[in-house]
Amino acid sequence: MRTLLLLIACILGATLSLSAQENINLNKFRQLKTELATPNVYRNAAGAPGHEYWQQQADYKMKIRLDDEKQMIHGEETITYHNNSPDVLSYIWLQLDQNMRAKDSDSKKIKTNSIGSEMSFSELKKLHNDFDGGFKIESVTTSGGGALKHSINKTMMRIDLPSDLKPGAQFSFKVKWWYNINDRMAIGGRSGYEYFEKDDNYLYTIAQFFPRMCVYNEIEGWQNKQFLGRGEFALPFGDYEVEITVPSDHLVAATGELQNATSVLTGEQRKRFDQAKRETKQPIIIATQEEAEEREGKRSNKNKTWKFKAENVRDFGFATSRKFIWDAMSVELSGKKVLAMSMYPKEGNPLWEQYSTKAVAHTLEVYSKYTFDYPYPVAWSIHAARIGMEYPMICFNFGRPEADGTYSARTKYGMIGVIIHEVGHNFFPMIVNSDERQWTWMDEGLNTFVQYLTEQEWEKNYPSRRGPAYKITDYMGGDKSRISPIMTNSEAIHQFGANAYAKPATALNILRETVMGRELFDHAFKEYSQRWMFKHPSPADFFRTMEDASGVDLDWFWRGWFYTTDHCDISLDDVKWFQINSKEPKQQKAASKKKKEDAPKFIGDIRNAEIETYMDRDESLGDFYNDYDPFAVSILDDVDYERYIKNLSDEEKELLESGYNYYQLTFSNIGGLVMPLIVEFTFEDGSTQVDRIPAEVWQKGKDSVSKIFVLEKKVVDVQLDPFLETADINTENNTWPAASQPSKFTVYKRNRNRMNPMQKAAKADAMKKALEEKEQQLEKEEKK
Ligand SMILES: [Zn+2]
Repeated sequence: MRTLLLLIACILGATLSLSAQENINLNKFRQLKTELATPNVYRNAAGAPGHEYWQQQADYKMKIRLDDEKQMIHGEETITYHNNSPDVLSYIWLQLDQNMRAKDSDSKKIKTNSIGSEMSFSELKKLHNDFDGGFKIESVTTSGGGALKHSINKTMMRIDLPSDLKPGAQFSFKVKWWYNINDRMAIGGRSGYEYFEKDDNYLYTIAQFFPRMCVYNEIEGWQNKQFLGRGEFALPFGDYEVEITVPSDHLVAATGELQNATSVLTGEQRKRFDQAKRETKQPIIIATQEEAEEREGKRSNKNKTWKFKAENVRDFGFATSRKFIWDAMSVELSGKKVLAMSMYPKEGNPLWEQYSTKAVAHTLEVYSKYTFDYPYPVAWSIHAARIGMEYPMICFNFGRPEADGTYSARTKYGMIGVIIHEVGHNFFPMIVNSDERQWTWMDEGLNTFVQYLTEQEWEKNYPSRRGPAYKITDYMGGDKSRISPIMTNSEAIHQFGANAYAKPATALNILRETVMGRELFDHAFKEYSQRWMFKHPSPADFFRTMEDASGVDLDWFWRGWFYTTDHCDISLDDVKWFQINSKEPKQQKAASKKKKEDAPKFIGDIRNAEIETYMDRDESLGDFYNDYDPFAVSILDDVDYERYIKNLSDEEKELLESGYNYYQLTFSNIGGLVMPLIVEFTFEDGSTQVDRIPAEVWQKGKDSVSKIFVLEKKVVDVQLDPFLETADINTENNTWPAASQPSKFTVYKRNRNRMNPMQKAAKADAMKKALEEKEQQLEKEEKK
């Protein structure tokens, strides 16, 4: 039995390694036929919505009440679900995202952890966390009030419909619920509250606060994959009418347009608000810091209800606090005005009043240029320590100065970067509505790419974290067991930020700068954005549109960058220099002679030259050679040459005499990722020439290729990827002659008392303190 098992194991092992071998040999340029879904009437082969494309719609009417004493949300909603599909539905699915914080949630159960030799208190507190989160569903009823049969499966709720929902029909129903708001600073979260101990106030950034419809489409059926924390959201579009009741001294920012300014704003605030609608240069402060500080010190026991309306959005978020300062300005996009606005507590100043709203305005302008005009009436940036999180028309952003109001460049650029990123999410995935639960790269990657363009248009040499090819090389060349292909489900990704943000953003940059060029890329990217604006695209729709609109076959690129973990390491192995043999006898013989004379000599021959030989000793010996010289030109040589020349055309003769240099370069692909070859030649006179060879140079599937370059001038230096555009992880094998920059190494003396950096810092602090004390002592003595 045992031998049999062993035998089976051996056979299995053999087949496995064989199929791995086959995979290696598959051509990297083969089309993505098996990887992509077959085009159909819903999504066509060009990557556009097909002629029978459909999507569902969910409209919401909500009444929300914040309990600022107990940090709770109470809600009631009426959802009207429109079945635009050709299918008959007997049940519908809703998402209960808050249940991720329920005591028995799977997110907690599947979280892996371990204790090393130390742990921070905040980590320890998370282990002890017994927060009673999750939706407490009070009722699920028909619009008439009759109970609806429903079943809660962790973060999902199925409602069984009283009768089948036919294609084209709609169904309205009500849900009532409440939940405890999480302390975001203690246990984290995309939404929650921050408590400010100094003035005993809360700042709420609220989202995923209501039961939301799942997406139903022809790709997934119901997208009811459980919410485990990483893979974000998939939501249908709809119209929202939301009433939010908060203490009357709070300010509220939300998805949508404010409907009742007259009953929630003061006369002065309304005047400033109207002014902001006309102002396009500088933000107008609608609620000042002074006013905010005054509100902070008191407590109103009255409530106010803020009413918002939003059309064609996939979600709703809001923020509320009595600490808020509020400013706004207008942005004009193709003649239409949009309000860019910010709310922040005094803790965000002076940074926030300087930069937040302007960064929002700039983001709307640049993203609109690369995609489509921002279609919503407002765009908010809300101050929220430590997080960056996006919702339609509103996002929560970090960036807090020190207590004394100073801030580092890192804090400033971090804040501007996160605002650009989160406001940018309005485009991907809020409007180009991809499935975040499945594919993080479709929103984070595309968004990080446009974020990079926007940052570079904010300020020259903006220190962008992600985008340039050379910034991804450490990740790409790292331990492959900790790298996943981009096309991996959100929950299963290793190195989340590098995989889902940086790598796809870099890939798009490389397409734009190197593979397609800016003009073709920008056109195709805009085409994708406009085709899928207010729709639900899939990865195939993106891949296909980029090719269809540009006329560039990119299957090899998607395959390498999105479906594998291969990296780029191409080496310039060899440079051979050739010139044409003119065949002119005199030149040829002279060259042969010189070659023989210059040839290296054998060590034995060199040493033996010193030996006295028999011939040296015996003078009687002598030869009678004829005068044949192998290097002399004979008449026959001349005749041959004349005949050769006579048969040549003028063009051929010219070529023969031109004196061109032929350089044969050999490249090998070590990393496995196929990429274009960008080759820079430097000539004797210091001038340079760049040749760009498309990636198709590799399409025969060889690991090594050679190519001849015809150059008039003599080359002194060849550089592969001279502008760092292919993410080549090893640039040391990119030069000819081989790089002569020395690598430095350190020599140290063994010292048992060597300090680690922390000990060093502590010692420096102690020395500084001692010096200060000594100075104070001296001052005192002087005064005496
Ligand atoms: Zn993001």
